[in-house]
Order: sequence, then C-alpha cells, then structure tokens
Amino acid sequence: MTSPESVLAEMRASLEGQVIGRDHADYDAARRVWNGAFDRFPLAVVRPAVVEDVQRTVSTARDCELTLAVRGGGHSLAGFSTCDDGIVLDLGSLDQVQVDVARARVRVPGGALLHDLDAATVPVNGVVSAGVVSHTGVGGLTLGGGMGWNSRRYGLAIDNLLSVDLVTADGTCRTVDAESDPELFWAIRGGGGNFGVVTWFEFRMRELGSPCVVTSAYPTSAADQVLEDLAGIASDLPRDQTIGLFLSRDELRVKSVWFGDTATAEARLAPATRLGGQRGKSATSTFTELQHASDESVAWGICCYSKGGFVSELDDDFVALMTQQIAAAPTAECDVYMIQLGGAVADVDDDETAYSGRANAYYYVVTGCWDRPEDREVAAQWGRETAALFSQASGVTSNYVNEQSDSSQDFVRRAYGEKKYERLVEVKRRTDPTNLFRLNQNISA
Ligand code: FAD
Repeated sequence: MTSPESVLAEMRASLEGQVIGRDHADYDAARRVWNGAFDRFPLAVVRPAVVEDVQRTVSTARDCELTLAVRGGGHSLAGFSTCDDGIVLDLGSLDQVQVDVARARVRVPGGALLHDLDAATVPVNGVVSAGVVSHTGVGGLTLGGGMGWNSRRYGLAIDNLLSVDLVTADGTCRTVDAESDPELFWAIRGGGGNFGVVTWFEFRMRELGSPCVVTSAYPTSAADQVLEDLAGIASDLPRDQTIGLFLSRDELRVKSVWFGDTATAEARLAPATRLGGQRGKSATSTFTELQHASDESVAWGICCYSKGGFVSELDDDFVALMTQQIAAAPTAECDVYMIQLGGAVADVDDDETAYSGRANAYYYVVTGCWDRPEDREVAAQWGRETAALFSQASGVTSNYVNEQSDSSQDFVRRAYGEKKYERLVEVKRRTDPTNLFRLNQNISA
C-alpha cells in the first residue's frame, strides 16, 4: 500500500501545478471553502496548471483509493468541495475566460467564478445566463442548472451550454456535446459533478442590453401585504423583467430588474417600489453592480445550513408560512431568498435536460445562518424545520440540487424523479463505475 507521503511526492514530481500538503504555508487558506460550517483537513489541495494535471490527479485518487473532492468556486452548501484525508482538486487556478465575439461563444475554465465570466462578457455587451453572486463558481452552478437575473430572458446556464471538456474517472479527457454523446451531455446538464471533472465549458453568449434595477426595502412587519401585492404584479411581468426578494427578521428587500429601454423602465419598475401601501427606497445600478450587490452579505466564511426548492405560486398560504417562519428565526442572519423563474426556463421541455423543476414560478432558498458557534444548532434546526414546512406546502414540487446543505439517496431520487434518476444511473455506470466522483448529490449505480 502506498503511503500518503509517497503519493504527495509522486504528485509533486509529476504535476506542473501546485500540490499543497499539510506542511505548506498556504495549507490553511487552501483547505477552506465558502461555507464556514465545514472545517476539513485534506491530505493535499492540488491546483492544476494544465488539463494533464487534472487527468493525473483523477488517476492518482482512483488508483490510491483516495477520496476526491472537486472544487470550482468552493460554494457547495453541503461542503462537497472539501474532505478529510483525501485530495481536493481545486480548479480555481484555471480561470482565464475566452470570448469569441464573432461567434458569440464563451469558453470558461472549470474553476472560473461568475465575476471572471462577467468581466469578460460585459465589455462586449454580452452575457451568459448564470447566478446572482459574483464569487460563486461557474462549475458547480452550471452542472446543477444555474439561474439568475437573465434566466427568464435566456434560460438557465445549462440551456446555453454547448459543450464541455470532461475528464472522466478513467483519466481520459474528451469533448462532450449533443452530437458526440447525447446521453452524457443530457446528464451533465443538471446531474452535478457525478460524471467527471469539467475543465472547460463552452457557452452561447447573449446580448446583455441595458439593465435597470430597483431595490426597495420594507419593514418586515409589512411583509404580508407587500408580498401579496408583489405576487399580483409578478405573474404579468414580461420575460425581460425579474423579481427577487430577500426576507429576514429585520427587513424585506425587493429587487426588480428590467432589461429594456430606459423610457419604459420607469413605468415597468415603479409598481415594485410601491407595494403594500408603503413607499420603498429605490436605487438604480449597472449589471456589474447588480452582480456584486450581495457579495458582502454572503461573504466567504459565513456558517449556514441552506435548503432550496421550487414553488409554483406565491400564494397567501406560502406568504403566511414565510412570514411566520421569519418571525421565529433564532438569528438576525436567517433568511428566505426567492427569485422569479418562468419565461425562457419554462420554454425548454423538462425531459431535455437532467435538471428538474422548469414549470415553477419561483426558486427559493431557506438559510439558517449563525455567527457565534453557540447559535449553530438553533439556526441549523430552524433551517431544517422551515425547509421541511416549505416542502409540504402546496405548489412546492421539486428541489434544487445546488441548494442543499444535506442530502440522502431518497432526496436525490425525489429531486430528479424516478425516470430521470434511472437514466442518470445508466450514465453513471458507464462513466464512473466505482463512484470516484461521489462528493456531490450522488447518483449511485
Ligand atoms: P463547489 O463547492 O466548488 O462545487 C460544488 C459541486 O460541484 C461539487 O460537487 C463539485 O464537485 C462540483 N463541481 C464544481 N466545479 C466542477 C467542475 N469544473 N467539474 C466537475 N464538478 C465540479 N445557484 C444558482 O443557480 N443561482 C444563484 O444565483 C446562486 N447563488 C448562490 C450564492 C451563494 C453565496 C451560494 C453559496 C450558492 C449559490 N448558488 C446559486 C448555489 C450554487 O449553484 C451551488 O452552491 C454551486 O454548487 C456552487 O458552485 P461552486 O463551483 O462554487 O461550488
């Protein structure tokens, strides 16, 4: 049996990139992930310099039977991108986005963050539909679906994905698209990191246009009425307008984003600033500001328990449940976040991708957050209970695999549904028969 020391020595000798072991000055920083609730000690963090480094690391983990955690942006809510005693393959060293303006194509390395992507496309008035927080990884976000301010206009991140370069468990690297391997390409679009390491994503780039953004803040005491009014206006919005909301014990923030001409914008956005008989405080911003607006409030190191899903309607019962649970939140940092779906997301047939939940009007995330270690249990318990109550509400139909702090075989089966799960199992058997890639919402054959 090979000793951990000799595995490290062999990797250091054969890789171009960095192998950060426990004796390295950067080890403590390198082992950390976004969710501070996960404090784990891998044998090494590998930062590949080239695709061959990814292939060698995958082969080493497989041959030495070491746990392998794949890290894009490190934002897994379940702490999947770290581990104890195994290898963390940190793709963050691969982050140089390439834009082909003439072909409206963007090549994104597996470790790029949303701000790397936006920084490359916004200057050419382009956008790839993705998420709403700039330090989230493109990798994990895309493989689970990926939604944000442009989803109603242009669909999910996976709906704009054209191909991936994938390193599978046998250590080979190949380009996968709808022609070369339709079944694997279907599975990758929603099936998470189950099938290998994506070293490159190729996306279709769309026109960004001029975003107009209004953010209004209301006291939580007005939430019932504000949300009722909001539900009334949201259902009639065109697909180039999207509403998001954030509810905590201290405030309700409503954001309305319109991509269109400025003359129409004011009329379009005004109703979202006058909800529940209250006058919300408004501010406008550019797309880049919008993408960075929440960065600080969800900064690295936050400890949280999150669970997300989809709901078909913001009806009175669901609003009552939200306000009831927020009133009972044990810490000021606990919150419920929602963003509107529909539009282009619902244009795609549910069977076209592994991702499930397209018919829903909103995606929600319940987050139990704590600052002080002594609040951990109560905040996580609140998150668990609130998420359980939400999942029993009428109109809640499925779960978003990317927003889960815990998981189980039953959960994963339910999230995809029996038919899709069996299809995913077939692809998993073919591409990863020993389940090397198991730190994810796992499809087990
Ligand atoms: P990581 O922890 O690096 O990876 C998560 C999983 O993906 C792991 O299982 C990992 O193995 C796999 N993975 C990552 N990169 C690769 C790769 N290149 N190849 C193979 N497997 C890979 N979701 C949305 O849809 N929209 C949002 O707006 C949104 N906002 C968020 C904001 C915050 C602050 C957080 C914490 C999460 C948010 N999410 C959002 C959820 C997000 O999609 C998931 O947390 C996602 O897993 C993050 O991807 P990552 O690469 O940063 O995570």
